[in-house]
Amino acid sequence: MKKILITGAAGFLGSHLCDRFINEGYYVIGMDNLITGDLKNIEHLFKLKNFEFYNHDVSKFVHVSGSLDYILHFASPASPIDYLKIPIQTLKVGAMGTHNLLGLAKAKNARILIASTSEIYGDPLVHPQTEEYYGNVNTIGPRGVYDEAKRFMESITMAYNRFHGLETRIVRIFNTYGPRMRLNDGRVIPAFIGQALRGEDLTIFGDGSQTRSFCYVDDQVEGIYRLLLSDYDLPVNIGNPYEITIKDFAEEIVKLTGTDQKIIYKPLPKDDPMQRQPNISKAKELLGWEPKIMREEGMRKTYKYFKSLPEEELYKKEHKDFKEYNRS
Ligand code: UDP
Repeated sequence: MKKILITGAAGFLGSHLCDRFINEGYYVIGMDNLITGDLKNIEHLFKLKNFEFYNHDVSKFVHVSGSLDYILHFASPASPIDYLKIPIQTLKVGAMGTHNLLGLAKAKNARILIASTSEIYGDPLVHPQTEEYYGNVNTIGPRGVYDEAKRFMESITMAYNRFHGLETRIVRIFNTYGPRMRLNDGRVIPAFIGQALRGEDLTIFGDGSQTRSFCYVDDQVEGIYRLLLSDYDLPVNIGNPYEITIKDFAEEIVKLTGTDQKIIYKPLPKDDPMQRQPNISKAKELLGWEPKIMREEGMRKTYKYFKSLPEEELYKKEHKDFKEYNRS
C-alpha cells in the first residue's frame, strides 16, 4: 500500500485530498496544527485503518516513522483575513514548513507536491496568467506574507529538485470553492452565502468590477492528483478559466439563495487583485485535465453544504489565541 503524508489535512483542500487518496487505496497520514483547520472535516476518517492523524505544526521539525512514498504540503492559512491575523505563522509554514517537508521527502526518498497559488502572480499585469508570467507582487503589503512565502516555497522546491535531484511537483492553485470552506474565513463565497443565510446585505469590496475565476473542489483535487502522478516538475496552474466580476457573482448568489438581499459596497482591501484568470493550456496538454463542474452546479452543492450546517455556526466568532501562534 502506498503511503502519503498530507499536511493541512484538516483544512478545506487538505481534507478533500485525504478523502481522494483514501478512496484510491493509499495509507494516509494527515497532519495539521488546527490553527485554521477543523477536525470535523476529517472525523469520518478516524475509524479507518489506513488513516492516522498527527496534530503537529510543520514549521517545527517533522518526524514520520517508516517509509513514505508521497508528501502533499497543503498546510497554510489561505485567506486574506487569516494572513492579517497570523502573518508570522503564514510566513513560517510556507518557508520553514516547506524546508522541513523537503528534508523529510529527501530522507524518505518520497515525491513531494507543494501547494503554490495564483497569489504568486500578485495583481497581475498579464491576462490570463500563464505559468511563464513572473507576477506583480508587493513584498510589504498585507498579502506579502502569503505571496512571498509561496514564492520562496517554489524557489526552495526547485533548489531541492535541481541540487538534490528530489522529485517535486508545484501546483499553482486559483480560487477554489466547495463544501468545508470555513464560513467565517472572509473569502467571498462563504462571506456571501453566510450573509444571505443570516439575512444580511451582501458586501462587495470596491465597485465589484474585479474578476475571479472559481474552480469547484472536485475538479481541483482531480488536477492535483494527476499532477502528482505525472512526470512534470515545473509549476502548473490548476483553476477554472471561467471568469466573472464580483458584482455579477453577487447577483448570482442572490438568485441562487432565492433571497432578496441588498448589495452594499465597502472599500477595496489593499492590493486586492483586479483580474485573475488561469491559462490552463499546460494542465490540458500535460495532464489531460480541465474543469468539468460549472459554477451553477458547484455553487448549488456548496450552498447545500452551508445550509446544512447547524444554525449556531452562522453566528460563531473565531476565538483562537492567534497572538500565541504568531509568537511561537
Ligand atoms: N470580496 C467581496 N466581498 C466580501 C469578500 C470578498 O467583494 O465580502 C471580494 C474581494 O475583495 C476580492 C474577491 O471578492 O476581490 C475574492 O476575494 P477572496 O477573499 O475570496 O479571494 P482572493 O482575493 O484571495 O482571490
